[in-house]
Amino acid sequence: MKQCAHCGQWSEDQAPACAACGAPLPPSAPVPAQPLPYTPPGFVPRPVRPGTPVPSVPPALFPRQKPFTWMDICTVLGFTSSLVGYFFTSIVLLPLGLVASILGFRGDRTRGLAVAGIVISALGLLIRIMVLLTDCGLLPHWVANGVW
Ligand SMILES: [Zn+2]
Repeated sequence: MKQCAHCGQWSEDQAPACAACGAPLPPSAPVPAQPLPYTPPGFVPRPVRPGTPVPSVPPALFPRQKPFTWMDICTVLGFTSSLVGYFFTSIVLLPLGLVASILGFRGDRTRGLAVAGIVISALGLLIRIMVLLTDCGLLPHWVANGVW
């Protein structure tokens, strides 16, 4: 609130002129400065040592890059084995790819690739086993065939 110098009427701080007489009012007084925080007598703020590095960004914003672990190596090995196993030495590479992919699944970095390796090698093994069983006459003809 501020008082009109002409008629003594109180007006709002934001009012440019007196509401009662219309006399111009001075601009609103500046907001009083915040009182300084209380410091007990004898308190000396700890001086910042010049050599101390000041962290400008919290370290949480920079997640530490996870190291490449043996699980990731297993994942890549498993995925590669699964793919190659479709064309060469399926009976060796597909189980290898399956096991390596399962081992590598525990690694965080290449989890998607590990899932791909597991699926690819499991499918390949399933097909391989079906073909083997059919070749050996252990499966009736209609089990492995029939799609076409
Ligand atoms: Zn007035």
